[in-house]
Amino acid sequence: MKTFSHRPNDRGFYGEFGGAYIPELLHNNVEELKVAFETICHEATFNQAYTDLLKQFVGRPTPLYFAPQLSKKHHTNIFLKREDLCHTGAHKINNTIGQALLAKRMGKTTIVAETGAGQHGVATATVCALMNLNCIVFMGEKDIERQAPNVARMKLLGAEVLPASSGSKTLKDATNEALRFWINHPETYYLIGSVVGPHPYPAMVAHFQAVISEEIKVQLQAQTGNSQPTAILACVGGGSNAAGAFYHYFEAENVRLIAVEAAGEGLHSGKSAATSLLGTPGILHGSFSLVMQTNDGQVVEPHSISAGLDYHGIGPLHAHAIQSKRAETIAITDEEALEAVKTCSRLEGIIPALESAHALAALNQLNFKPEDVVVVNLSGRGDKDMNTYMNHFDL
Ligand SMILES: *Cc1c(COP(=O)(O)O)cnc(C)c1O
Repeated sequence: MKTFSHRPNDRGFYGEFGGAYIPELLHNNVEELKVAFETICHEATFNQAYTDLLKQFVGRPTPLYFAPQLSKKHHTNIFLKREDLCHTGAHKINNTIGQALLAKRMGKTTIVAETGAGQHGVATATVCALMNLNCIVFMGEKDIERQAPNVARMKLLGAEVLPASSGSKTLKDATNEALRFWINHPETYYLIGSVVGPHPYPAMVAHFQAVISEEIKVQLQAQTGNSQPTAILACVGGGSNAAGAFYHYFEAENVRLIAVEAAGEGLHSGKSAATSLLGTPGILHGSFSLVMQTNDGQVVEPHSISAGLDYHGIGPLHAHAIQSKRAETIAITDEEALEAVKTCSRLEGIIPALESAHALAALNQLNFKPEDVVVVNLSGRGDKDMNTYMNHFDL
């Protein structure tokens, strides 16, 4: 096992992964952010403002729910961390609140972001409305067509949605446009939605999402008498909900950390998004990590039925955790995830997001003892996926 650390070195490296591979023109922007993050984010007044908003606006702490029927089905003790109950329906708001507060403290008045499926765009537009910030969201032309309800939400919240019309007209192109915008408008704040991008973004997003495991520890202690579970499962797109659910357990070596990826139509079908299993080292979005790419470095278009996992990279913290064997990986197909949506809905009365259903489906591939305690991070709710469910289940 290579030595693992969940904190990057001062150049932003987790083992061999991470760093800041950015054009010279972005250097000052990233440096300004790094200094601000290192000072402001650790001040008591900042943390108080962050904690207050998480409580009053997001609805934290989210419950840690003992799921009796799922526990019976899997012959063990299963707890669901209910990030689906966060305002806007998923964990993403934890991070956007933190970064928007930071932007305010840095004196910024405009936020720029990119979004694929629109979930991060909605979370960003929400906090910009809350904090009276201008919001510009880049989105691939193709995604704007495919994700009309989220585009409407962003507009209703007051955001400007700008189409990225180059390349494949999807997330990759929206990211390029957002970075270009940031270069030309260094007075704006660039808000990234997962543990990806150049240093300090992965560390900063993990810091803001760590509230998830901070709560799990306290809640497990109160409910079971032990703050450490046997295992924690979380789905991984870029890796922010997993980073948050794992964070305070990285150093507790007895706790199994299980990252669940999207195998799409099958791991070796050519239509998959299982980056840690299929990806190879490369540079993506300003950091060195695992990327789905051809031998000559062309990005391979990923596929997953769940828009939030349909990403061709994985954050450097996870690449390092997996390579050093601190975290395990399981890949779940579209069909298996859909089956888990139905099971959780019927057994527990909770309709999960398609992304979160991947983590639930992984329970079928694991064997736990009756006395074990397993936490599944339920990253989001299924409302946004109802069209897919209606088609698939013929509802
Ligand atoms: C965006 C999203 C994900 C994937 O993003 P991570 O950064 O890997 O957490 C997972 N679940 C839901 C509900 C999402 O909206």
